[in-house]
Amino acid sequence: MNANINDRKPTNDLTFSDLDKELREYAISHDVPIIQDDGLAMLESIIRIKRPKKILEIGCAIGYSAIRMASVLGSIVYTIERNEEMYNQAIENVKKANLSDKIHIIFKDALEAYDLVKDNTFDLIFIDAAKAQYMKFFNLYTPLLSTHGVVVCDNMEFHGLVEVLDNIEEYKSYSRGVRGIIRKMAKFHDELLAKEDFDTTLFEVGDGIAISVKK
Ligand code: SAH
Ligand code: MG
Repeated sequence: MNANINDRKPTNDLTFSDLDKELREYAISHDVPIIQDDGLAMLESIIRIKRPKKILEIGCAIGYSAIRMASVLGSIVYTIERNEEMYNQAIENVKKANLSDKIHIIFKDALEAYDLVKDNTFDLIFIDAAKAQYMKFFNLYTPLLSTHGVVVCDNMEFHGLVEVLDNIEEYKSYSRGVRGIIRKMAKFHDELLAKEDFDTTLFEVGDGIAISVKK
C-alpha cells in the first residue's frame, strides 16, 4: 500500500537526556506542572527560529523548561520563582545540567522582581506562573522586549478549564477560587488578542499556547 501523507503521525523532535527523564519523573510524581511535550516542542522551535540571546521566564518551578530552553542554542535565561523549595531544587538541577553560567534563577515574586532584571533586553519572554496574574506579568515585563520580541504564554486553557465557561452548570460546580482563575484567564485571552502593539495567535498545543509578537 502506498504511504499516504495523511496517515503519518505528527512527530516532534524532542530528545531527552537522563537528567530530563529524572526531572520529568520527579515532576509527575510530585505534581509539578512542567510544560507538556508538544508545548515544549513548539517553544524549542520558536527558539531555533528566533535565536534569542536572552530569555526571561516567569515561573521556573524545578528548572525543567529553563534547562530545556538554555540547551537549544545556549541562550541566557533569567527565570523567576517565588516558592523556596522549587527555587532550591531548580538551583541543584541547573548545576546538574552544567548550565549555572547560562541560567540565572531569581527567588522572588515575579510581580516584585522587575528591578532585578530591568537592565536587560529580552528577545523571548515565557510566561508560565500564576494563571490569574498573566496580564500583570505581561504588562510589567514586555517593556523589556527587543524589537519584534516574542512572548509565549503557557496554560492558556488553564488545564482545559477555560472552555467550562461555555457550560454554566459545570462552571458553577467549581470552587470560587477556580472560577475566578477561569474568568481571569478568559479575560486575558480577549485582552491579549486585542493588544494593538502585538500580533497574537492562540494554539491548541499542550494546555494552550499563545504566541505574541511585538510589532
Ligand atoms: N516553567 C516550568 C513550570 C512552572 S510551574 C516548566 O515548564 O518546567 C509554575 C511555577 O510558577 C510554580 O513553581 C510557582 O511557584 C511559580 N509561580 C507562580 N506565581 C508566581 C509569581 N507570582 N512569581 C514567581 N513565581 C510564581
Ligand atoms: Mg505551564
